[in-house]
Amino acid sequence: MSYISLYRKWRSQTFDEIVGQPAIVQTLKNAIAANRLAHAYLFSGPRGTGKTSTARILAKALNCEKGPTATPCDKCQNCKKIRDGHSVNVIEIDAASNRGINEIRELRERIRYAPVEGRYKVYIIDEVHMLTSEAFNALLKTLEEPPSYTIFVLATTELQKVPATIISRCQRLDFGRIKLAEIENHLKQMAKAEGFEIDEKAVNLVARNAEGCMRDAISLLDQLVSFSGHKISYDNVVILLGTADEELLFAFGQAIASNDIPKILELIRTGLAEGRSTPQVTRDLVAHFRNLLHLKVGSEEVLELTKDYLERLRRQAQSFSLLQIKNVIAALSRAELDMRWHPHARIVLEIALLELLDGEAAVEITKIETPTVKVVQSVTEKKLPPMPKVETAPESDLLTKIKVSWDKILEKVKKQTIFGYVSLHEGTPQEINVQGKLVITFARGYSFHKERLEEIKNKQVVEQALQEAVGEKILIDCVISDGKKEATVSAAAVADFFEGKVL
Ligand SMILES: [Zn+2]
Repeated sequence: MSYISLYRKWRSQTFDEIVGQPAIVQTLKNAIAANRLAHAYLFSGPRGTGKTSTARILAKALNCEKGPTATPCDKCQNCKKIRDGHSVNVIEIDAASNRGINEIRELRERIRYAPVEGRYKVYIIDEVHMLTSEAFNALLKTLEEPPSYTIFVLATTELQKVPATIISRCQRLDFGRIKLAEIENHLKQMAKAEGFEIDEKAVNLVARNAEGCMRDAISLLDQLVSFSGHKISYDNVVILLGTADEELLFAFGQAIASNDIPKILELIRTGLAEGRSTPQVTRDLVAHFRNLLHLKVGSEEVLELTKDYLERLRRQAQSFSLLQIKNVIAALSRAELDMRWHPHARIVLEIALLELLDGEAAVEITKIETPTVKVVQSVTEKKLPPMPKVETAPESDLLTKIKVSWDKILEKVKKQTIFGYVSLHEGTPQEINVQGKLVITFARGYSFHKERLEEIKNKQVVEQALQEAVGEKILIDCVISDGKKEATVSAAAVADFFEGKVL
């Protein structure tokens, strides 16, 4: 047996199965019962909220052998044909691909013939706002003098693009976004009937992600089943969506609240190592701080989150002032925009967060003139064959001393230059080479950090810090490593590389 997608299988077949549009269902049921149907309806509302399904059910209600009835049987020939899309009485036109005058003229020709089977011909014109103005005019004439056996259902996601002359000839029904709890309940019902196990948090995340669109929620559930089988966990959803999970977001919040720069850098690294993209993590962070903002101003009811989640947000919101939250949102939103043209998204995110936390960074950033030029260089560099390995000397006492004091050195650098610190943080003290220089290696994909550390000012700060830590003057030499460290961070490096290509 071939696989039927959950969306097709679970498409509403009766008015009572339509989720989240009670007022519309009631209006249509009443009209059918009282035989007071309009000749044309305009269904407006976001995608995936049930417009086309409702139109088909209306067609069934009118043509059911037991009808017209508000409760079509879904078993007779007429109902079945409509359900399977074979009825000659239900004509669906996708205006997105049939925009022109000819299609509407053809429709006007066909409309003159009375239905062969059933009572009504139902014309469903989807995305009606896409019609050309000529086509709209032709449609308008049809709407002015429709045969008694026709019902028009015009559906649109963009009401403002439908001419007022058309709107005024239709009864308008506005489909709202479906509430979170309704999507959740529907998903749970489906899972139960289909024999899937899905935990509460996973259902919540799927439903939230759908943003009021049932179709998206169901197709995501479908993907989850293919991805993780019949047992679906919260982690499966996080992985499939590539979104930042709850723990990561709260950890970021905590690190930002306590000005913990190393922690933030670590979180960015681990967050990306798990295969998420920088723009996605940034968007998730913006959403997280938006949640905190709502908690702060007391409008959390709009968030539609679980009680536990709200409680957790409430606690975190206490660590911030309203102004701080606004600043974080502003900085991250800016970063999200900047990433669109910047080939190295990760550094944009790092800078945005560091700039936010450290006043000094704000001064520093003005000194970096043309980051794009450097990025071009670093991308070119990635295409070159690996750098030859630097001559290795046996590990010296000096190197051991440096390694032991590495954290102290990082701290000293941090006080002088935040960018020097960020760059050095990604490097590893590798060896003392034959010229007596300290070789600091960077994994492939971190050439941006390497280049930044090579900037004269940053280099001097590091060399100064080294001198203070070990008591002698040591110069540094930055290289991209050709193996060892790469293996441990390759996921992040690869992600960075592709991000550089895509963005
Ligand atoms: Zn029927």
